[in-house]
Amino acid sequence: MPADMPVNEVIENLEELGIHPKECRVLINRKTGQPMPIFSVFLEKNEDNRNIYNLKELCFMKIVVETMRGKIGPAQCYRCQGFFHGSRFCTRNPKCVKCGKPHLTKDCTKTKNEEPTCCHCQGNHPANFLGCPQNPLNRPPPPPKVNFWEERARIKKEMQEAAKNKTTPPAPPTSQQNNQTEETSSSHPPQTSSSTYQSQTKFVPRQVQMMPSKPPTRTQETPSSSRNVPLNRTEATKPRENPEDDPPSLLDTLSQINDPEVQEMIAIVEKFIKISKSNKPTAYKAMELFSLLKIKI
Ligand SMILES: [Zn+2]
Ligand SMILES: [Zn+2]
Ligand SMILES: [Zn+2]
Repeated sequence: MPADMPVNEVIENLEELGIHPKECRVLINRKTGQPMPIFSVFLEKNEDNRNIYNLKELCFMKIVVETMRGKIGPAQCYRCQGFFHGSRFCTRNPKCVKCGKPHLTKDCTKTKNEEPTCCHCQGNHPANFLGCPQNPLNRPPPPPKVNFWEERARIKKEMQEAAKNKTTPPAPPTSQQNNQTEETSSSHPPQTSSSTYQSQTKFVPRQVQMMPSKPPTRTQETPSSSRNVPLNRTEATKPRENPEDDPPSLLDTLSQINDPEVQEMIAIVEKFIKISKSNKPTAYKAMELFSLLKIKI
């Protein structure tokens, strides 16, 4: 029906057919603010009113009756046909909903007989067709974004924990002794796959076991330190408890974590993560990161 059809006339015509609308309105185009040749009719749910769906014409004009649907799917821009935003603040180049070419839909010259072209998938449907394979409705959600710094911190933590687990078990020297005797006895016969794995895990303590031969000589070389600290001699027989005898051990590395320089770097990394995760625009975040890292641009 033409947009300038008086609403009262629509209501009267419906009343004559035994349909009693509560309200009738002409729909306004959100873009142009102009009335569209579409009327919305609010009806009570009853048998008489249900007949409206059988109407093919009204006021001597052909009409199509449809139920109002709520908006399904993600927001779609009227200007660029992009998803998840509206046209109001969109500054992207326009794309036509009908032909997919770079012009506003209202400037389209496509005739009704021409097939529409979707600017998302080049299919023969308008870009706002919900069945478009490129519509987010029909696409699986993207995998969760991985924050590089968080991921790195996580891996670091995992490595630290793994290191802790690795260094603690060999500490008691008595178990090492057992391990070594088992190791030497079991290493002679041919191994099955499972037992080779066992011998591999025992290989770490055996390496540690090699250490006691060195420490006594070292403590003998430096008798002053052993004299000052009488415990040293007993400790010398327990190699794992004297960190100095274990040159690049992970425990050594970890013990440095509380050093001020390390703590400062950790604080920077934490700030880096915080800035990266904030909801500010990327350019703003980059500026903050630059100033955090004292980079001059
Ligand atoms: Zn847009
Ligand atoms: Zn067009
Ligand atoms: Zn499409």
